[in-house]
Amino acid sequence: MEYILNTKDIRKSYGIVKALKGVSLQVPKGSVYGILGPNGSGKTTMLGILLDVLQADGGQYEWQGYSSPESARSNIGSLLETPNFYHYLSATDNLKISAAIKGRGENDIERVLKLVNLYNRKDSAFKTFSLGMKQRLAIAAALLGNPDVLVLDEPTNGLDPVGIAEIRNLILQLSKEGKTIIIASHLLDEVEKVCTHVAILKLGELITQGSVLEVLNDEDWIELGCENNDALLLALQSSGLCKQVRLQSLIIATPNKDVSIEVLSKWCFEASIYTQSFGASQTQSGK
Ligand code: ADP
Ligand code: MG
Repeated sequence: MEYILNTKDIRKSYGIVKALKGVSLQVPKGSVYGILGPNGSGKTTMLGILLDVLQADGGQYEWQGYSSPESARSNIGSLLETPNFYHYLSATDNLKISAAIKGRGENDIERVLKLVNLYNRKDSAFKTFSLGMKQRLAIAAALLGNPDVLVLDEPTNGLDPVGIAEIRNLILQLSKEGKTIIIASHLLDEVEKVCTHVAILKLGELITQGSVLEVLNDEDWIELGCENNDALLLALQSSGLCKQVRLQSLIIATPNKDVSIEVLSKWCFEASIYTQSFGASQTQSGK
């Protein structure tokens, strides 16, 4: 697997509070990587260190695949806290200021407004926006200059269900475009819904990390792919063989009891769908 970020034994204390007690994370390229933990577990501290806003007391990290730390930095968009947009200025004018501060993306404003679905409100004053729209504008600012990586701290905090759904859909869409997205969240449900990978932090310690399927799912699963995953999704949903079928970057099927990989593969073959199997939960692999 190709990793875009590797951290090793990151430590940070604030006086006597040990916020991070040696955290080593590996973030796969193209993943939506959730850092999940209750308040105070060290998530924001970790993101601050990765973004060079805070200095670690020990350990190392490396953004991989870039020629220099500066080039890595210019390929990371981040949302650590809600930016101070100007209430009386329009969305466009606020983003012009963001672009000037960042030194990138001054010709990218139209594109990012379209991406976050605010283009039709580009001339409206910031103060007329709902909380969800404000948060989407903040994500638009993070997207200026089209970075490969997005780092988002609790991006749905304080939003109502509609706002939450908007942000989640946006994250899934950006992930489809190939971006790596690192999200800190205290909401299990959020991580389950949008993340492909997860690290669980508790009081500054890494409890576990891995694919969401492995870490958060105790049901059997089979990962499948073919040339047309949208068609495979529909076919498996109507096959009656699976309790649940989802499309992330691949198809994730939760088969009914007694349905093995072989049964699923054979069914697909008979339906003229030529699948590849990429992985399965342990009990499934053993069937
Ligand atoms: P999370 O984002 O998971 O809620 P934080 O990284 O914000 O966790 O905080 C981790 C721990 O570090 C908490 O105990 C918090 O109180 C403490 N902490 C965070 N920032 C500071 C700070 N600037 N000064 C002192 N303690 C801090
Ligand atoms: Mg936090």
